[in-house]
Amino acid sequence: MKILLVEDEIELAQSLRHILTQEGYHVTICHEGDTGLKLALECQYNLLILDWMLPQKSGLEICQYLRSHSDPIFASTPVLFLTAKDTLDDRVLGLDAGADDYLIKPFELRELLARVRALLRRFVSLKSKNQQNSHKLKVIDLELEIDNQIAYRNGRLIKLSEKEIKLLQFFSLHINELVTQEQIFEYLWSQEEAPSSNVVAAMVRLLRRKIETENEPILIHTLYGKGYWFGFCP
Ligand code: CA
Repeated sequence: MKILLVEDEIELAQSLRHILTQEGYHVTICHEGDTGLKLALECQYNLLILDWMLPQKSGLEICQYLRSHSDPIFASTPVLFLTAKDTLDDRVLGLDAGADDYLIKPFELRELLARVRALLRRFVSLKSKNQQNSHKLKVIDLELEIDNQIAYRNGRLIKLSEKEIKLLQFFSLHINELVTQEQIFEYLWSQEEAPSSNVVAAMVRLLRRKIETENEPILIHTLYGKGYWFGFCP
């Protein structure tokens, strides 16, 4: 699970990163609002922890921008506010801006961790429910119609084989994560099918040819000796 923490108190940011990393989360920190918003729009995080008062752009402005952003991927990322503001008006303002939860400074680390877990649980169950209910899936800048085995990128229609759409479904579950050839192999093929060993590389090559044309940002990155990375920024 990936968390972006935007907090201008450098010591607090570093200690929170330390604690969250110990809990197994991948944490990116930055200290200014502009950079925070840029990062939030570049990578798909599972949770944003935003301090309210930040240089350049406030946590509130970041949240408002993401919620009004047309891309549902960014609009639905859960947001936890950290703030010293604790009047009723402030809380209402924060929740109206689209925050999912709110933590007043100073706070107990245990409480922060409990709220992070709760938000991530809610996010994961909502996401899998959406995916079950809909056979349409938005994955970064691709739109997938699973049943019809087609995808759209920048309005371009892409016809896909059953395995190719399944590979994209697999990548959609691991956006901005390193995945190994073995993981892909296990997801796409059964033991009985026993395809040749370089079948994953061949399948990725085929898919790339279809979804990445000239001038389009690369989505599938090869990390040599490690596996693949699906997303804009490896
Ligand atoms: Ca601050």
